[in-house]
Amino acid sequence: MSAERFIVLVTDKVSGAGLEPFEQDDRFDIVKVDDSKDPAFEQALATAHGLVVRSATKVRADMLDKAPKLRVVGRAGVGVDNIDLEAATARGVAVLNAPAGNTVSAAELTMALIMSMVRQVAAADASMRRGEWARSKFQGVELRGRTLGLIGAGRIGGTVAKRCKAFRMRVMAYDPYLTDEAAADLGVERAELADVIASADVLSLHVPLTDATANLIDAAALASMKKGAFLVNVARGGVVDEAALAKALTDGHLAGAALDVYGNEPLEEDSPLRTAPNLVLTPHLGASTAEAQELVATEIAEAVRDALGDGDLSRALNAPAIGSEALRKLMPLFELGRRLGHLARALAPGGLEKVEVRYAGASDNALRPLASYVLMGLLEDIIGRDQVNFVSAGHLAKQRNIGVSLTTLSRHADYTEYVEIAIKAERGDLKVAGALLGDVHPRVVRIGEYHVDVVPEGTLLVLKNDDVPGVIGRVGTILGENGINIAGYHQARLAKGGAALAAVVVDSDVSPEIREALLALEEVSSAVAVGLD
Ligand code: NAD
Repeated sequence: MSAERFIVLVTDKVSGAGLEPFEQDDRFDIVKVDDSKDPAFEQALATAHGLVVRSATKVRADMLDKAPKLRVVGRAGVGVDNIDLEAATARGVAVLNAPAGNTVSAAELTMALIMSMVRQVAAADASMRRGEWARSKFQGVELRGRTLGLIGAGRIGGTVAKRCKAFRMRVMAYDPYLTDEAAADLGVERAELADVIASADVLSLHVPLTDATANLIDAAALASMKKGAFLVNVARGGVVDEAALAKALTDGHLAGAALDVYGNEPLEEDSPLRTAPNLVLTPHLGASTAEAQELVATEIAEAVRDALGDGDLSRALNAPAIGSEALRKLMPLFELGRRLGHLARALAPGGLEKVEVRYAGASDNALRPLASYVLMGLLEDIIGRDQVNFVSAGHLAKQRNIGVSLTTLSRHADYTEYVEIAIKAERGDLKVAGALLGDVHPRVVRIGEYHVDVVPEGTLLVLKNDDVPGVIGRVGTILGENGINIAGYHQARLAKGGAALAAVVVDSDVSPEIREALLALEEVSSAVAVGLD
């Protein structure tokens, strides 16, 4: 492959200074056409092996059809809404992004918005421009000594934390995947979500948009913030309920807020946010600095170079490599691995330190891709489902300092295809295992020390309870009263009358209220519900 030459088409005014990785490598020729509507773009597409875009160019099926040689699309930035991942995958085109180059710029914008909020800079500026001199109207507050609440302490949240420490703020963080060690490095106090929301003078969001974070800051969360607190969101629009925020500002419950990101972008002209008081709005400017543009251009140029030149797809967002018939046959096993990963994550929350994937089965080549699927299941809730796939999972685990080891077991006595995951998490260790019956029917066969036999689909409710008469009935009654249908109920125990575990497959979601009701039963000591689809 190294003797091959590659043409990379670069558009959307991607920073020229960031393209050095191509320029320094004589296998690459760059064609720069700044506007993809220019006829020269389509012409270049016909021979391009790589395409680098920002957000303006829409990479859809019809465009991919005009690029018969294309193998890699690189997005200089994080979001890939402008790229049809499915169409790219179907054509064997890998899609890569550059998630890290924006970090400092997004963190600095967060600081700018925080400062602007607490000192009312934007409103004071507008007042000056109206010809006023209203000094008494704009009394602010100091950041010193106040509490910054962080939700999400990854790259950007961590960078904001350090800067707020320099302002002498106390920093509390909720990030279920943050280890004590990482928290200590950042100098932040780890706390539960409700405590962070209730204690923050300034609450700053730095999470991906996932099922768990969608609408995380809703009316109830806003109401539980301190009166007079501030909210800033430079993460993703869907995390905050915009109508509820507008109301909290109008009612005066919050002293101010600042947003860079919105549920719909561009923000609707008649959005209630545009008229809400004490609100600073910017049009998704987190990454809009010369430095970030150059850094993401370099990051994506390196990724596209490695993908085309060396076949390194570890940073791909889609999984075009899973084309072979042999791998396709193993899909039921891989899917079982992903679901076991999900289950393990739900049962052993907190920072993840080590994962061991053990496999006993007929395929010599299954273990490595199986481990990638297990990691996908473990990481999906942490990073966001659209940002992790079986190609990138190993790379993402390494970035997060999660040790991964693979073990081939000798044949299992009971199952021909068997996979076991042992995880070492900060708040405890856990083993879960699954098997394929008849090579295609997945089962969870072990949770911790307990042997179970449940189909991993829908929602799995895992209860720990005392092995006493009547408990199954009482659990069933609570579920039934709440309209939840039980598809399977497996009760396992280590010894008669001791501790027991129930794995209950149910047909619908289990709300926090139902969980609470189950936990209120005297015999039930823990209840975890996990969606496995
Ligand atoms: P990251 O992956 O480094 O960090 C995200 C953190 O969120 C991780 O530590 C993860 O453990 C944590 N997390 C995941 N689910 C959580 C949950 N339910 N509750 C609490 N924490 C949770 O990502 P990053 O680079 O720091 O980016 C953070 C956000 O900022 C992303 O949404 C990204 O898209 C956005 N972003 C916005 C701009 C902008 O222009 N405004 C620029 C860059 C990034």
